[in-house]
Amino acid sequence: MLGSGKIGVTTDNIFPVIKKFLYSDQEIFLREIVSNAVDATQKMKTIVASGQSSADTDDLRVSISIDKEAKTLTISDQGIGMTAEEIDKYINQIAFSGAGEFLEKYQNDAHAIIGHFGLGFYSAFMVAKQVDIITLSYQEGAEAVKWSCQGSPEFTIEACDKKQRGTDIVLHIDEESEEYLQEDRIASLLQKYCKFLPVPIVFGKKKEWKDGKEVTTEEDNQINDIQPAWTRKPSDLQEEDYNKFYKDLYPFSDDPLFHIHLNVDYPFTLTGILYFPKVKSSIDLQKNKIQLYCNQVFVTDSIEGIVPPFLTLLHGVIDSPDIPLNVSRSYLQSDANVKKISNHITKKVADSLQKLYNDDRKAFEEKWDDLKIFIEYGVLTEEKFWDRAEKFILIKNSEGNFFNLEEYHNLVSGNQTDKDGNLVYLYATDKDSQYTYIETARNKGYDVLLMDGELDVPFIQQVEAKSEKTRFVRVDSDIIENLIPKEDKASVSLSEDEQKQLKGVFEKLLPLMDKTRFDIQLEALGQDSLPIVLTQNEFMRRMQDMSKLQPGMSFYGEMPAAYSFVLNADHRLIKDLVGKEDEAAEAKVKQLIDLSLLSNGLLKGEALNNFIRRSYDLF
Ligand code: ADP
Repeated sequence: MLGSGKIGVTTDNIFPVIKKFLYSDQEIFLREIVSNAVDATQKMKTIVASGQSSADTDDLRVSISIDKEAKTLTISDQGIGMTAEEIDKYINQIAFSGAGEFLEKYQNDAHAIIGHFGLGFYSAFMVAKQVDIITLSYQEGAEAVKWSCQGSPEFTIEACDKKQRGTDIVLHIDEESEEYLQEDRIASLLQKYCKFLPVPIVFGKKKEWKDGKEVTTEEDNQINDIQPAWTRKPSDLQEEDYNKFYKDLYPFSDDPLFHIHLNVDYPFTLTGILYFPKVKSSIDLQKNKIQLYCNQVFVTDSIEGIVPPFLTLLHGVIDSPDIPLNVSRSYLQSDANVKKISNHITKKVADSLQKLYNDDRKAFEEKWDDLKIFIEYGVLTEEKFWDRAEKFILIKNSEGNFFNLEEYHNLVSGNQTDKDGNLVYLYATDKDSQYTYIETARNKGYDVLLMDGELDVPFIQQVEAKSEKTRFVRVDSDIIENLIPKEDKASVSLSEDEQKQLKGVFEKLLPLMDKTRFDIQLEALGQDSLPIVLTQNEFMRRMQDMSKLQPGMSFYGEMPAAYSFVLNADHRLIKDLVGKEDEAAEAKVKQLIDLSLLSNGLLKGEALNNFIRRSYDLF
């Protein structure tokens, strides 16, 4: 025996701490041990490349094996190995400072604890009751050693007869952690954490289906791609390669809309590929996430705090050794490097969109309906992104034509400026149900935007706030003359008394609906317009729409919807009703009211049924 001793920690016993505090993130032990093996392998390659050793490094790999009988999980590499002195230095003397205090502060944050103490290797004790290191250093004349520790600060170290250079880490899995002796469990962890490591990771032999049975082949089961797309040069990659990589990440997804290859070496190192996904539902958005790697080691897919919220909706991979992984989220957000990285990614995404817009406007327009949600979310939440996106944001009109904001401004500023010099953008949120209103506006020579996206209402508010003397008005929020008020409004030719009487008949028969308020107005809309136009107050409706998106505004959600029946004093049906209050007149009024409710999708249930029955009686 070379010796035994106590591991140099200042807390009495680190092992219970490891077991207790790190329990929730137990599975990362495998990532830590395999990463160490990969590091040792790469160091060996560097040493050979620099001429300090002539060992053969062509076929180096890391192998993982399970021995169910011995209840061990072994991670073997052919890296640089360690001498007894190195074990003493790197494994026995863990540098602790202020340990107790730190543990208290971060007791629920496994990453922080592991990172702070450099406990990568010691995380093995989360699942093992004993860990052996059997290792032979690459150095000439080195002797193989076996270090062994049973989850207490005491360890032993002795000579052993390992012949091959490298290290075997043998974990004697404890009773509560026997799941880590299951092949499936280990296979899935390797898939999760090691899929893109830069050194081949081998787990047993490949299996094949033959004559209805699964048989083991001679071929090594390598689980990783050592050169994933993001580590390669963009000039070496075709569109198919990017799409294939996307499928490797998210096997059941459609092809993405387009990708952005990130590659920075100064002032921080960052590589990665971000994809704009084709989103079919919000479930897709939550299911597939950007994965964060550190030198090809998977770290997490929860990247909040590292990129702005709207970019967390993108898919793909970010790899950066400069993101401090072992700190709490709140610290992360204030870290200067992380801020730089976040800004860089935002800028890069905006540049790529701008480039696509400049290079191929048509292709950009074709993708717009899918891109829109990301871009609107971006401009609503990131001031910096608005400054860039302003130039390529598109809006679409009811005819399906696209405009950027400036183009649209120029298109409508002549005709759609009201008497006070305000520019009025008319919009519809549903082409079918607002058809009549859209037609009325178009017949008047106005253009109507289609704003039917989830974030269009807040987006509209944003554009209004950013532009001077511009407001958006939904086509059904008022009669056409009032949507864009001009000087020459026609006046109603009925006397005061006639108007009062006519309104009275309608008011008596107004429908009663939950959380809905109606009133009656009278306007001269011309003989060819409809007899009644039902309008919904823009302000009240917009506040209600916003309240659905922002929990703090629920007060507005409680307010009633406000509709107006605007009677067209020029229409023959309305004129006929002047001065009449008998049963026949009332029946007509009822029918007119219901017809306008019906054409706005507001006639439902019993009221609809009554209307239909009444209508049959007319025949
Ligand atoms: P870290 O990897 O963060 O330095 P670890 O506790 O995981 O901390 O490892 C401590 C040290 O032990 C490593 O830096 C390395 O020098 C050595 N080591 C661990 N695993 C191996 C291995 N498989 N081969 C060679 N050296 C290793």
